[in-house]
Amino acid sequence: MALVWPDLLLFVALFVLFVGVLAINRITVMHKAYLAFHFIMMLWPFGQFSISTTGDPEYQLAYVKLAFIAVSLLGPGWLVFVLFLTGRAEQLNRRRAFVYLVPALVCAAFVIWNPAHLFMSPIDGTYANRSYGTLYWVLVITQFVYFFSSLLIMFQSLKTVHSLNQRKQLATAVVGIFVLTGFSVTDMLINVLLAPWLPVVPGLMSLGILLSDCCFVLAIYRYGAFDLISMAQRDIFEHMTTGIIVVDESGKVLEMNRGALPFVKSAKGEMFEMEKFLSPLQTQGEVYEFLYQYRHHPLDRLQTEITLPENSRHVSIQISPVLDNHKSLLGRVITFHDVTELRKLVDEMNRKNEALHERNLELVTIQEELFRLNQKLEQMAITDPLTGCYNRRYLMQQLEHELLLNMRYKIPFSVFLFDIDHFKMINDQYGHLVGDEVLRSTADIVRSKLRRTDILARYGGEEFTIYLPHTNREQAESLAARMMIAINENSVTAGADEVHVTISMGIVSEDGEELAFDDPKQYLRELFSRADTALYKAKHEGRNRMILAR
Ligand code: GH3
Ligand code: MG
Ligand code: MG
Repeated sequence: MALVWPDLLLFVALFVLFVGVLAINRITVMHKAYLAFHFIMMLWPFGQFSISTTGDPEYQLAYVKLAFIAVSLLGPGWLVFVLFLTGRAEQLNRRRAFVYLVPALVCAAFVIWNPAHLFMSPIDGTYANRSYGTLYWVLVITQFVYFFSSLLIMFQSLKTVHSLNQRKQLATAVVGIFVLTGFSVTDMLINVLLAPWLPVVPGLMSLGILLSDCCFVLAIYRYGAFDLISMAQRDIFEHMTTGIIVVDESGKVLEMNRGALPFVKSAKGEMFEMEKFLSPLQTQGEVYEFLYQYRHHPLDRLQTEITLPENSRHVSIQISPVLDNHKSLLGRVITFHDVTELRKLVDEMNRKNEALHERNLELVTIQEELFRLNQKLEQMAITDPLTGCYNRRYLMQQLEHELLLNMRYKIPFSVFLFDIDHFKMINDQYGHLVGDEVLRSTADIVRSKLRRTDILARYGGEEFTIYLPHTNREQAESLAARMMIAINENSVTAGADEVHVTISMGIVSEDGEELAFDDPKQYLRELFSRADTALYKAKHEGRNRMILAR
């Protein structure tokens, strides 16, 4: 018999491995809880069966203990399941789980320990028949407390749950607990309490466990928690427009979705050859680079965009490696995304953008043109077309402002008003065109003597005026003298003759200290009247001279 132990141990090891492999795979907590619980439930019928396979009381005792350890854990198993089912799983932290488990673990400890046969004792030296002691009843009561607690939680939840699906599911679980409790009680009655008078009915508890497990599984499936996520994933995978294939490291197709059908001619289990797929394209440049990377850098994420020659569709291809924990390649996920519409939109947008850009450039040109025109108009509005001097209106406008400044800051200034002498004669003798030329030429000479801040304006006919800021009497006189000499020396050619002119000038100078007026327009009128009087005096005194106004 002792030789059986290694095999049993190996069986257990294999079984643990089986559960382990399942558990470490990507399954939900619910799956794991169920697996653990299912494993415990299996131990009862296994123990019960094993007892009958041996006559050795020692083995029998071990099997009985195994079975009752399983029974001890049934209660907390149901309790935890109920917490999951009623959506209270988050209450189940480590500390609480431990508290829930303690009574069950104490019972299991009593089962193993069986002190002074207080749990059970053999009848006629065999554990196939056995009598139970006080600790057995402690275990029974503990289990009932677990079941009642589970029922209580479920009834409480039933009151608050409104979804029909969840109510059905809870009801199924309630049935499960009742079935288990019912069968346990029956088993206890027939096979324990009434054992001396009734024949032993085998498998009652096991049947109860099986039936309650069925309810358990039904409740889980109603909730859909076992498969909800994977079903959803499957559904999304199948129906997404992006084509996806999963290939192993050799390129064999392991999985593909419907979206991949237009792109991939290989079926599941066949090889997907990227070279063949890309062969209709000119494998140059980017595509060649992509192919090279695909072959030689299988651990890299790759992306490229191609245009299929048969239908001119633009397809974006992405490749992601699937790695194990040690970063070695298990396979690759290849996605095909038809981006034709996107590309068309982008192209269209680019075209529109370009057109817009061109229009914009045109507008900018027009705007510049307008700006230049405007400037010209502005210039024309303030200048005299013949001489290029400012016109009288502009001068008066500027002066209103300048005079206020001069008054405010006590700035000296001067104003010249001059008129060409005997100009009518030039017109008469040489004609208007020569007259015009004389006007232009005189203005140029005068302008050449001025600063940028001085304002030369045509006052009317062949009369000009100059405003000279920051210019006192002495400066004004000296400038006027130089100006008159320059004009005298200047000449305009008229056929064989050189035409010379002189000017007469009236000068007004203000030192700025005593400048005071309320109405600048009125003051301007007075100012020019004084200049005009001085000019008139200059003419009267024989011309070609300047007179300073009082
Ligand atoms: P005075 O020395 O007294 O100033 O004699 P004047 O001949 O210059 O007399 P007045 O100033 O009265 O004459 C101005 C003349 O200038 C009259 C007009 O025909 C002429 N004139 C006015 N504007 C223009 C112009 O734009 N071009 C030409 N060619 N002649 C003009
Ligand atoms: Mg004149
Ligand atoms: Mg005149």
